[in-house]
This record gives sequence, C-alpha cells and structure tokens, in this order.
Amino acid sequence: MDWLATIAMAHGLHLSVVGGAVRDRLLGKSTPDKDLDLVVEGDGSWSWPAIQLLELIENHELPRGFQLKQSQSFEAFGTAQLHLQTPEGPLLCDLSSARSERYAFPGAHPEVKPADLLNDLKRRDFSINAIAERLPLSSNPLLDPFAGEADLKAGQLKLLHPLSLEDDPSRLLRGVRYGTRLGLELAAETTAQVDSTLAAWPWTNDAPALASRSRMELELLLSESCWRSAVELLESWRGLELIQRGWKALPPRSSAWLQRLGQWGHAIDPNWSAEELRLVGLLWLVPHQYNLVAIAKRLQLAHRQQQLLSRGLELQRWLEGLSPQNTDAWKASDWTFALEERGAKTEPLMVLMPLGPSRHLQFRRPLLRWLMCWRLIESPLSAKELMNQGLSAGPKLGSRLKELRGQAINQHA
Ligand code: ATP
Ligand code: MG
Repeated sequence: MDWLATIAMAHGLHLSVVGGAVRDRLLGKSTPDKDLDLVVEGDGSWSWPAIQLLELIENHELPRGFQLKQSQSFEAFGTAQLHLQTPEGPLLCDLSSARSERYAFPGAHPEVKPADLLNDLKRRDFSINAIAERLPLSSNPLLDPFAGEADLKAGQLKLLHPLSLEDDPSRLLRGVRYGTRLGLELAAETTAQVDSTLAAWPWTNDAPALASRSRMELELLLSESCWRSAVELLESWRGLELIQRGWKALPPRSSAWLQRLGQWGHAIDPNWSAEELRLVGLLWLVPHQYNLVAIAKRLQLAHRQQQLLSRGLELQRWLEGLSPQNTDAWKASDWTFALEERGAKTEPLMVLMPLGPSRHLQFRRPLLRWLMCWRLIESPLSAKELMNQGLSAGPKLGSRLKELRGQAINQHA
C-alpha cells in the first residue's frame, strides 16, 4: 500500500498501519485477516487528516490493478472507509485520524482530539494492538511503545493502563476474541484489572454507548470461526458478568446447543443468520431469574431479536404450566393448534428457544415434530376448492379448513 503513503506524503500527511494488520504480519501472515487499519497524521491544517486523505484518494488516479469501489467518510469521528479492489482481491481500509481519547466517566463515549501517532497508540486496548508501522514499510522501524511484539511472542494479552477496562469494559470482550483466535492468556495484571473492574460493575452512570459497543463486540465474537472456544473463554474470563452481573457460568453443553440453534434456525428461516441466532441464543442462556428481555433491550439488540426472546419466554412459561397428564391425550393437531395460537406459526424459531441445552423438557418430542413436520402440512383442499363445493366465505369455511388440516396432520403423525 505504499502508493497510498505516496499520495499522503505529497500533501504533508503520514500514514501508518496499526492494529490487526501489523499483529498478523508479526505472526507471519502476509495479508490481514480482515480489514486494514490505517492511521493518518496531519500537519495541523485539517482537524481530521483521514477525511483530507479520503478526498485526495477520491481525486487521484489509482495504480494499475487498484480500484476504489466505494468510500464513506464519518466526519464527526474523523474516520473514513475505503472499499478497494486490489490485485489480490477486495480490501476494506479503515482510515482513522490520529487521536487521543479521554473518558469523562467509566464507560463513556470518549472525547477525542487530534494527536500524533504515539498518543494514538496509547488510547488502544492491548499491547499487541498498540503497534504501528509507518509507511513506506521499508524505511521505517516498528513503533512498539508497549512491547506488544514481545507479548505476542509470549502469548500474553495485556491491557495498556490500569484504567483501561474501567474506561471501556467492552475491551474484555475484544480480549476474548483475540485470546481465542491467537491462543493468548491474560497477563496477571490484566486479570487483576478484570477482577477489580467487575467488582464495581455495573456503573450507576448511564452509558448507552458502552452497551451497544458491547453488543457489537459480542456479534464479532460469535462470528469468529472459532466461536465455540470463544464462548468457553468468555465464561472463564468472566465476560458473562458484563452481560449480567452475577452470571458466572453457562449451562453444560451450551456451545453445542448454540451451534444447533444457528444451524437449524438458519435452515428453517434463511432470513436469520446463524451468527445472529447465536447472539439471541447466548442471551437465552442468561439464568431466568434475571430479566433477559431487559438485558436484550439494554444491549440494543435488533427489535426482531428482542421479540424472538420475549415470545420464546412466553412459550416457555406456557409449557411450564402444562402437565403431562393433561397433554397425554393430545393429538398432533392439538399440539399444532395450541402452538400456533401462541404465534409459533409466524415465528417458528421461537420453538427452538425452549429446547435449551440443560432444561429437561418433557415436551421435546411434540415441539420438534411440529417444527420439522406438522407446521408444514396444509389442508388437502384449498379455500377455493371448498367454495367450489358450495361452502361460502366466512367462519365456517375457516373451521372446515382447520378441521381438514388437523386430520391431515394426525394422519401423518
Ligand atoms: P481484526 O483482525 O478482528 O480486524 P483488529 O485488531 O484489527 O482485529 P479492529 O476491531 O479492526 O481490530 O480494530 C482496530 C484497532 O482499533 C485495534 O487493533 C485496536 O488497537 C483499536 N481498537 C478497536 N476497538 C477498541 C477499543 N474498544 N478500545 C481500544 N482500542 C480499540
Ligand atoms: Mg482490523
């Protein structure tokens, strides 16, 4: 990417690679796992040099094989994004203006102001990410003020300063992601910081920015290819407690259940991705003495995700109130109509929720049968055919259709 640096330097800007790409290169990977994070330092004439650089790139002819597919600037944050086509394939570049950050209160949205690269590195999460390389690479040494390269080699994940987690507790969730992906252990002082931060958690101050940051980090965590180990590490590094104070352990076999929920759920309704379902599923695993709908709301889960949780809960409460003696005589059609009266038809996934990992559910069989089979069975005669036979539109037609469908379901069962 030296051509980018050349454009920058011609206008008094300095460009550096930071974060994941440097880390991955030190680990011997030639291309970054995901995006390329670049920091832009200015000469002070523009408050946000990343925005200035974006404009320069947009008005510049790119080298052969490179194409700017799409770009976006976020002026309020001094950042920009470039979607490039390169000879090696598509590449997402995150441009960020070098900045320092100040947290007015724990978990606050940080106040930022332009700064140099060294100060920009000080605002970062872990030593292994606070490493930068000024471009062009060949003429500049690695900038590694927190000895991140040594930590990376020693397999240590270390926060940069004693108030780091208090400033932004979602860093613990980021840490779990790195810990799993790179096989790292928490440094002793970082473990102590996790303990002391969680002892004071949650903050009394309202920190909505933090809640949505945490949700985004959970989404990233559950999208990693090694997400199952990440869920286990989340538990052992006390990350669950950030979701709900006092939540220390997952039920046994949780990751196998989350795997099934994602896989089956996506197969049942492809509008839901497996990753998204795992997020909803993780919240489902919050012990039910806590108000999981309130937690989902606080974390600002999408509306439909919140709905899935609350309707799953309603279904579960109804199931808990049923006794096997009463339902023993239930036919397949009775189960079908009872479930569908509770909205299961419009949201088949909600039936998957009560089939959680450790809850011994006596009604497992009819729920699964409905999900896999009964719900898909229709009346052998359509409304139109019944009307051709002389039935007129109205409630009678509806009940005849239901009766026919019930018979078809019972025949199949
Ligand atoms: P990935 O390979 O997943 O992209 P990454 O380390 O590049 O890993 P990003 O989420 O792309 O992670 O973030 C880029 C860099 O921004 C990080 O390396 C880190 O230095 C910094 N960063 C991101 N989020 C935070 C945060 N909450 N607190 C401090 N620094 C952060
Ligand atoms: Mg990155």
